[in-house]
Amino acid sequence: MNRDDSPRSTGRLLLAAAPGGLCVVQDLLNTAGMPAASLPDLLADETSACNWLDVSLRTWSEQTGRDAPRITVSGDDLPALRDLRGLVRGWLTGGAENDAPHPLRVGVSYRDGRLAYEPSGDGAAAVASLVHLEALLASHTGALVRLKACRNPACGAAFYDLSRNGTRVWHDMKTCGNTMNLRASRARRQASPKPADQTPHR
Ligand SMILES: [Zn+2]
Repeated sequence: MNRDDSPRSTGRLLLAAAPGGLCVVQDLLNTAGMPAASLPDLLADETSACNWLDVSLRTWSEQTGRDAPRITVSGDDLPALRDLRGLVRGWLTGGAENDAPHPLRVGVSYRDGRLAYEPSGDGAAAVASLVHLEALLASHTGALVRLKACRNPACGAAFYDLSRNGTRVWHDMKTCGNTMNLRASRARRQASPKPADQTPHR
């Protein structure tokens, strides 16, 4: 596959990108494989990870109006990237534990009338710096709480909730929402005892 044709992790789910630099956080989450939809884990091998990162940094550059950081990853970075993805997912689902501070390697500069930053270094550590910083910035603007993981356990797609009250829990109501609501109502029916007038009499 030509690199330029590689589907972005979020793009392969037909989801809109989270605004600004937060898209790189969303893209990291959406590298996860989804067996039910025959989608592979993009962090399972070096080629797919490199393609994912190239496309994701390009989107980040387009959305932030800044030059894409030059970050490359190798096969050795894959375990750390998968750990980072798990950590970030925990932030969204409330499953994260308090952790030790993550050192960031970032250069901040004043350029063309505004403050800008760029991660320094390379590999998984540079990706982690970018992801942590974008999540931190988004947590200050209120955008991070709208980045959510679909509540369908077979899905988990990371989507940006644009609903007015910010209460969306499914990445797509038609697929995940209806499936899970149907399953929940079946479980409720099975759990609740039959009404007395419907209990067969001997
Ligand atoms: Zn979903």
